[in-house]
Amino acid sequence: MRKKVIAGNWKMNMLPNETIKFIDDFAPLVKDSEAEIILCVPYVDLFYALLNTQETNIKIGAQNMHYEEKGAYTGEISGRMLKSVGVEYVIIGHSERRQYFGETDEIVNKKLKAAFEHGLKPIVCVGENLEQREKGIAEDVITKQTELALEGLSKDEVKDTIIAYEPIWAIGTGKTATSEDANNAIKAIRNKVAKLYGKAVAEEVIILYGGSVKSSNAAELFSTSDIDGGLVGGASLKPEEFAKIVNYDKQ
Ligand code: PEP
Repeated sequence: MRKKVIAGNWKMNMLPNETIKFIDDFAPLVKDSEAEIILCVPYVDLFYALLNTQETNIKIGAQNMHYEEKGAYTGEISGRMLKSVGVEYVIIGHSERRQYFGETDEIVNKKLKAAFEHGLKPIVCVGENLEQREKGIAEDVITKQTELALEGLSKDEVKDTIIAYEPIWAIGTGKTATSEDANNAIKAIRNKVAKLYGKAVAEEVIILYGGSVKSSNAAELFSTSDIDGGLVGGASLKPEEFAKIVNYDKQ
């Protein structure tokens, strides 16, 4: 039985004082959850988030990292740096990074490998855009992205990778994939993992859905056979709303 994982992606939102307030409000609301709860916060909030979640069941992640360990990469943050302050998770290859910052499948793969080298747990994002969906090639796109992201990882590393299926047309748009469509896309990703790394690995790998998840659709999405939880953007910025998503099974 795979554990449910519910991760918030704050993107470029929330100041340190807002982070502290959020955690004060949010932590008591989710203290009884059995899900793995992760907040992926901006770099400047990491310290405050780590400090304030110490006595809680909330884990902290970053939203990106560089694949090199150190060196002349002005403005970048390495996996080693994240690990050194106690970060546990890192989002890799979010569609906004692919779209606005030129991250290719090759870069995503390098970052994934670097995350494991530094003992971080990666949440790697894949997803088709609207044009690809309309052309009927969504499944090819997401299974290929998955294959390229995971290339060269060991079976154990693949097992420890969280994959987030995030159709780009559903991110921040209010449009959610139907639970059936999202579940089918995730099944296709799981089948690809089975083909490349074996059935046992595929049965264990956690695959999330992301794209306009909110408290009103979380239960339906997360109760399907293959969706193991969510990567949540906008709705993770409000403690009460995000807590309702985390507690989707207790409504
Ligand atoms: C995301 O950016 O990972 C995301 C899913 O955003 P939203 O929930 O706002 O669509």
